[in-house]
Amino acid sequence: MQYIKIKERIKELSKTDNVDLICVSKYHTIEEIKEVYDLGQRDFGENKVQDLILKADTLPKDIKWHLLGHLQTNKVKAVVGKVHLIHSLDSIHLAEEIQKQSEKQGVVTNCLVQVNSTMIADRFGVPYEELDAFIDEVSAFKNIKLMGIMGMAPKDQDPIPYFQKLRQAFENSKLKDGILSMGMSADFEQAILCGSTMVRIGRIIFE
Ligand SMILES: *Cc1c(COP(=O)(O)O)cnc(C)c1O
Repeated sequence: MQYIKIKERIKELSKTDNVDLICVSKYHTIEEIKEVYDLGQRDFGENKVQDLILKADTLPKDIKWHLLGHLQTNKVKAVVGKVHLIHSLDSIHLAEEIQKQSEKQGVVTNCLVQVNSTMIADRFGVPYEELDAFIDEVSAFKNIKLMGIMGMAPKDQDPIPYFQKLRQAFENSKLKDGILSMGMSADFEQAILCGSTMVRIGRIIFE
């Protein structure tokens, strides 16, 4: 269990203690998650709606659940009201469904705009050129609260230029006082040095 070490490393790198850690538990059992919970962690991330709901129903209620993976519109209904933050808002179509289901349940759903930050053959994420217009459009949705942006660096490449570009887009956006979610097991140190405010770490916590 590397949890304590990783918490310390994040603190060292961030200095001001302003980087939140999401423990990505998508490949891990209830028992393994409980071990990390018992060390004080309260924010956990899942990729699949079904897994998030199952784990949320089983584990303590003070856990904040984050949805990281691509969200299909037909799964929105199930996850609204259970999720603390959706990291993968990437289309107006999806925003419309989140708005509709949130309104029905009388809740406001927190979302991050996923940016197509790898700029390669990424299927998901709003292109940089469309980010401002996307934020403006979704800001009019009363039951969605835009909290910031999320992005990734491509595998097997130096992540720093990608993180710098994300940070710049974040700072130039209307969401600049919010959350910048970037950094995973392989690249969280670079992400923090580039100004991440939220890292999503799975693999190295549990190994
Ligand atoms: C799986 C996943 C993570 C965590 O990846 P690790 O390599 O296990 O740290 C972070 N963000 C997203 C979007 C993921 O799908």
